[in-house]
Amino acid sequence: MLQISKYLYFDSAHKNEFKGGKYAQLHGHTFYAEIVAEGSLHPDYGWIVDFSEIKKSIVPIIDMLDHSYLNEITGLEKDTTIPAIEKWFLEQIPEKPWWFKGVRIGIIGDLDFKPCKLPAEKDLPELWRFSFESAQSLPQLPNSHPCHNLHGHSYFVKVGSRDMDNLPSVLRKIYDLLDHRWLNEIPGLEKATSEILTHWIVEKLYEFNHPPDVVIVQETPSSYCLWRNNHID
Ligand SMILES: [Zn+2]
Repeated sequence: MLQISKYLYFDSAHKNEFKGGKYAQLHGHTFYAEIVAEGSLHPDYGWIVDFSEIKKSIVPIIDMLDHSYLNEITGLEKDTTIPAIEKWFLEQIPEKPWWFKGVRIGIIGDLDFKPCKLPAEKDLPELWRFSFESAQSLPQLPNSHPCHNLHGHSYFVKVGSRDMDNLPSVLRKIYDLLDHRWLNEIPGLEKATSEILTHWIVEKLYEFNHPPDVVIVQETPSSYCLWRNNHID
């Protein structure tokens, strides 16, 4: 048996009122859909199926989920838990391609405050990293821009400071302000681009008497914003 997997991502908002607590609040995630293919090897090409063919056949479903509010999608109104999204996803593929084995939906964030220390690399010092799960929309953008829609991200934040030992307890306070929230409701984050969110975190760290040297906010796996204190050498 030989399987291959292709990961595709969608940035969406949701809430699950029946679960209560933080899950009932409007928030969001960067979700992944792992598409599993199985079959025998093509005698000439040496693969089960072209990864780009998997992507091409699944992208229309991802486009329905990406930069959306999942609770507004037909079939997901009442339940947007992972098993419900998986079931919905399969329903969108009534005729399964011959290679299709299954789909696993997941979330790329840590889903809890789990600070992790990253070693210094290139021109960056040691950093503490954590993630949080929130919804947002950018009302300042034109309606035609996908980020004008309600959506969400698993945000990854990396912070370096002179006092690395005490930094996690301060980052915990920032996590508690941001996690499982709708960012637009937080003063200063009504238009939370990566840049505005980065500045907001820098200001909070000053407020908590913990001036940072570096703050990085990563909204998606392929993009980030970096702030660096000009006063350090
Ligand atoms: Zn969630």
